[in-house]
Amino acid sequence: MSSLVIKDLHVAIGDKKIVQGLSLTINGGEVHAIMGPNGTGKSTLSKAIAGHPDYTITSGDVLLDGRSILDREADERARAGLFLAFQYPSEIPGVSIANFLRAAVQARLAEGEEIDATAYYKRLYSKMDLLKIDRKFTSRAVNDGFSGGEKKRCEILQMAMLEPKFALMDETDSGLDIDALRIVADGVNTLRGPNLGVLMITHYQRLLNYIVPDHVHVMWDGRIVKSGDKSLALELEAKGYDWVKKELAATATAAAATAATVA
Ligand code: ADP
Ligand code: MG
Repeated sequence: MSSLVIKDLHVAIGDKKIVQGLSLTINGGEVHAIMGPNGTGKSTLSKAIAGHPDYTITSGDVLLDGRSILDREADERARAGLFLAFQYPSEIPGVSIANFLRAAVQARLAEGEEIDATAYYKRLYSKMDLLKIDRKFTSRAVNDGFSGGEKKRCEILQMAMLEPKFALMDETDSGLDIDALRIVADGVNTLRGPNLGVLMITHYQRLLNYIVPDHVHVMWDGRIVKSGDKSLALELEAKGYDWVKKELAATATAAAATAATVA
């Protein structure tokens, strides 16, 4: 079984420390959700794992199937089986989705190996049928003038074609309309299975009504401060993040009191 292990990870942007000692293990087939208030480092975590050059990993490790990926460039990490769904995907005017995906699949092949056009289209169409995507869709230019929902559809199709071992999905904190949300959820639920692990990053509990996670983690100040099952997401929705903050403060006070007693 595949595994993605994040070990005591610290990430900085310039000299600003953002992720501060985050550990998490995701096994193949599992869906984990990370929730947390804005500015807590959720996007930084996913970009650092994907290998974005602006994010410096100052200590800790990320292992894919037991091997560190930190010495690999972003494209090598993708080839090793990581997929990052961007919060704000780029537009590529003039390049059709069919050609874009073909280039993406080609990039995964060994040097000198050529994609077989017939087999490629067969696979593309079978994935589109699976995801209930209209054939006309792939002749459009990538994200050019797309609605939020269409961008998500393009992203899910890309994920289906690349068949990653692990998908990191950073959902926009404010923007996803209900249509886009459903497309992401239906796509992930269709692709969900023993060969795919998913890390869903989301500010709102709403998405988790559609994609039921196996594990839920709360991120606060660059760390995971609480983990549980899907009921934790419901609790967060009911009580808000302030509840976690109060609990953290209470734990710190208790720890200080214990230390004082021991001293
Ligand atoms: P989240 O996704 O949880 O809302 P982010 O990872 O986007 O949080 O941001 C965490 C912190 O890092 C914030 O204080 C944010 O202002 C800062 N930050 C994010 N990206 C950059 C960047 N490119 N340059 C400088 N600071 C950044
Ligand atoms: Mg974010």
